[in-house]
Amino acid sequence: MEERTVQGQVALVTGGNKGIGRAVAELLAAEGVTVVVGARDSRRGEEAAAAIRRGVGEARAVVLDVTDPGSVRAAARWIEERFGRLDVLVNNAGISGSGQAAPQDALDRVPSAVDVERVRAVFDTNVFGVITVTNAMLPLLRRSKAARIVNLSSHAASLTMTATVGGPLSELPSMAYSPSKTALNALTLQYANELREENILVNAAAPGYVDTDINGHSGFLTPAQGAAVVVRLATLGDDGPTGGFFSEDGPLPW
Ligand code: NAP
Repeated sequence: MEERTVQGQVALVTGGNKGIGRAVAELLAAEGVTVVVGARDSRRGEEAAAAIRRGVGEARAVVLDVTDPGSVRAAARWIEERFGRLDVLVNNAGISGSGQAAPQDALDRVPSAVDVERVRAVFDTNVFGVITVTNAMLPLLRRSKAARIVNLSSHAASLTMTATVGGPLSELPSMAYSPSKTALNALTLQYANELREENILVNAAAPGYVDTDINGHSGFLTPAQGAAVVVRLATLGDDGPTGGFFSEDGPLPW
């Protein structure tokens, strides 16, 4: 996958205040991208943006809760007024429900015991939030010469791997998180197909098992290692793929 020069571009990273999103924001800023850190908590967003400015590059914070369409519209207006366009959208914000680190909690994991409200809450953030943000930002992305959208998926999204009896995913019940990421993969394909002719490349990234709050810090990769594939897809050249599902090691089975 060829990368391109991204100096001077503008990128929005949702949930950019910590974890993988924060690492994506830092890595893009280090490449000369002006990063808009989307955070649902203004203080956490401002602190992250200030730390990036002190360290590697240019960053601003905007309040953005992906489950609140009003805050998403306000964030789009703010980006329009300040920058007039958007080159990269990283749909990173996500929740796991009770958490991958809480296997004893069956309420969002075991199919026969699931609490549907928990599933709904996870889909609200991981799926419907992505539609809300993407559609609000598309008018700005269309003003870029070659926009890129990266959706933070997961190996757990893979139906092929989940259907492999005896494989690690067939033994990991997950009624909320994994299906939400499978739906996100489906959305990725829908957007890729619509936007193909406009040179807007849309891909899903699986960061691997990363040491962050979402899994109670049980992951073994650093946030920067998890962010690598995301940054690669955010900086694709015009000949890059669209409608793909990638880890840092290459394409993943749907
Ligand atoms: P994290 O450290 O818990 O970060 C999640 C980020 O999403 C935080 O900034 C959080 O904000 C934000 N967020 C949650 N709900 C939001 C909402 N409604 N509106 C706006 N922001 C919201 O987890 P992470 O590991 O970095 O996860 C980032 C993405 O990678 C997620 O989509 C996750 O599913 C995906 N992923 C992670 C792993 C892994 O092993 N860590 C593996 C595969 C995929 P607050 O600080 O306000 O809570």
